[in-house]
Formats: sequence, C-alpha cells, structure tokens
Amino acid sequence: MTRVAFIGLGNMGGGMAANQVKAGREVVAFDLSAAALEKARAAGCRIAGSVAEAVQDVDAVITMLPAGPHVRQVYAEQILPDAPTTALLIDSSTIDVESARVVAVQARVAGFRFADAPVSGGTAAAEAGTLAFMVGCDEADFGVIEDAIAPMSRVTMRAGDHGAGQAAKICNNMVLGISMIGVCEAFALAEKLGLEGERFFEIASKSSGQCWSLTSYCPWPGPVPTAPSNRNYEGGFATAMMLKDLKLAQEAAARSGAAAPLGAAAEGLYALFDRLGGSDRDFSAILEMLSGRLTARGV
Ligand code: NAD
Repeated sequence: MTRVAFIGLGNMGGGMAANQVKAGREVVAFDLSAAALEKARAAGCRIAGSVAEAVQDVDAVITMLPAGPHVRQVYAEQILPDAPTTALLIDSSTIDVESARVVAVQARVAGFRFADAPVSGGTAAAEAGTLAFMVGCDEADFGVIEDAIAPMSRVTMRAGDHGAGQAAKICNNMVLGISMIGVCEAFALAEKLGLEGERFFEIASKSSGQCWSLTSYCPWPGPVPTAPSNRNYEGGFATAMMLKDLKLAQEAAARSGAAAPLGAAAEGLYALFDRLGGSDRDFSAILEMLSGRLTARGV
C-alpha cells in the first residue's frame, strides 16, 4: 500500500490524510475547499484538481465526506468510473446504512473491493491517528483494509458485511446520546435534591449508574479533568454531529421496523438544544438545558 487518494479533507479528513503521509505513503488529495487543500498541501499531500484526477493509479481511495448524498455522488460520478479496479475503496464518512449498501453493490458490480469504515474518536483522535474503525466488508478483504487504515487507527474492528460498519456506528452513538441525557438528568435531579455533584459522581461511578458518559466524559465539571465540561464544553463532539447520528439511527429504525423510543426522545432533545444555540458545543453541554441553566448562562 503506497499510493492513497484522500477525498474530503475537513475537520476529520485533514488529520487522517496527514497520518497517511506520516506513514510514508504518497497521498493525492482533493476537497472542494481551497483552505482544506492548502492545509493538506502543508501536511505533505499532493493536490489533485478533481476526484477523478486524484484516484488515477492509486492503491486505495479513502473518502471522508459529510453525508450519504455526497458519498453516493462522488462514488457514482468520479471514483467508480476513474479509479483502477485494483484500488481498495474505503468510505469512512458517517452515512446511512442504505447508502453504504448501495455504494457497496455498485462498487462490486464495477469490480472493486469496498468497505464502509466509519470512525469513533473525533478530531483529536483523527490528528493523533488513534481513531476506532468499525468496518463492513467481505471477510477476505479485512486484512488489506486493516493495513490501509493502520496509520489512522488505534483499533479496527470488522462489524460484518457491507453496511455493518455504519450500523455499528449509529447504534453505538444512539447508546451514547441516550446515556449522556440520562447522566445529565441524574446530575440535574441530584442538584435539586441538595446532593453535591462531586459526591453523586463518586457514588454513581462505583454503583450501577456507572457508564462511559459518567466516568469518562462527565458532563458535570470537575470529576473527569479531560472532559469538555471543564472547558465550557468547547471542542469534543459537537451537538450537531450527535444530532446527525441520532437522525440516522431513527431513519434506520423506521426503515427496519425496530422500536427505538428512547433514541427518538434523545433526537428530540438534541434537536431542541441545537435550535437553542448548542449546535457547535460539545454534546455533554445539554446538561445546561436539562438543568434549566441555559437562559441564565447563555449558550
Ligand atoms: P467537514 O465538513 O469538516 O469535512 C467534510 C469535507 O468534505 C469538507 O472539507 C468538504 O469541502 C468536503 N467535501 C464535500 N463534498 C465534497 C466533494 N464532492 N468532493 C470533495 N470534497 C467534498 O466534516 P468532518 O467533521 O470532517 O466529518 C466528516 C465525516 O466524518 C462526517 O460524515 C461526520 O459525520 C464523520 N465524523 C465526524 C466526527 C467529528 O468529530 N467531526 C467524528 C466521527 C465521524
């Protein structure tokens, strides 16, 4: 694996492409944004004038685009017609399961190996090369996919066949959205009952309320020093991103006939927080809305 085309050099893709360069690979990059291209050039990527130009003569194509329609369009119009069929195709965007499966079928028909490989970890992990990848692919292709992903990854897990990577991603983030709201409601209630936040954290983190949203990413400032709650909820995982993933989960639930009422409630609460101005803030800032502090502090 020496030559890689990287399409989509935004908040995530920029750092991921840079890590491919650091691993000694020749990276040809394309994005619609001139500023993103300039950053990629500074990181050592060669800049192409289009997707079609970027994918010529490469061993792998990695896409990191906003949503399903972007991925479908770029694959149908530029990657599948212009990449060599020997190239491994990896889409790491978070998109709907249906789009991932459609692109996988189109890629297979055109003679390519394809993987949906969305990530968990955010921009800091993208920069550090420590993302977790959830992969949907043919079993026989997993080894070569793992190798292509290695410079960007802390852990790479095969979820199943095509679409399973996206399914794992949206199910995981639905758990995260619901559990964060649960933890925030508990802190808000504890406060009303006169129980100190720090004390509640100590007790719940050693009791059955323990979960990642509480002990690794505590929304209450103080107990977990690395959590965004200690820096006014800046950075981290934006509310707009959580809302996008919860919407994908609800669409998937509606299509498949799964009941996900708490996922629906979480989507509604994050949509409200987003509209109240929380869009760019870390998703744990929903504590301010749930504890009634939003108006007092402003968002
Ligand atoms: P972003 O908006 O910063 O980057 C997307 C990039 O794609 C932009 O630079 C845009 O110009 C480019 N683009 C759009 N259409 C294009 C096209 N036709 N050709 C070439 N480039 C095109 O978004 P991001 O934060 O980097 O997220 C990318 C994906 O990763 C999304 O699907 C997101 O849900 C997922 N994700 C993001 C995070 C996060 O914390 N930001 C975490 C995990 C997963």
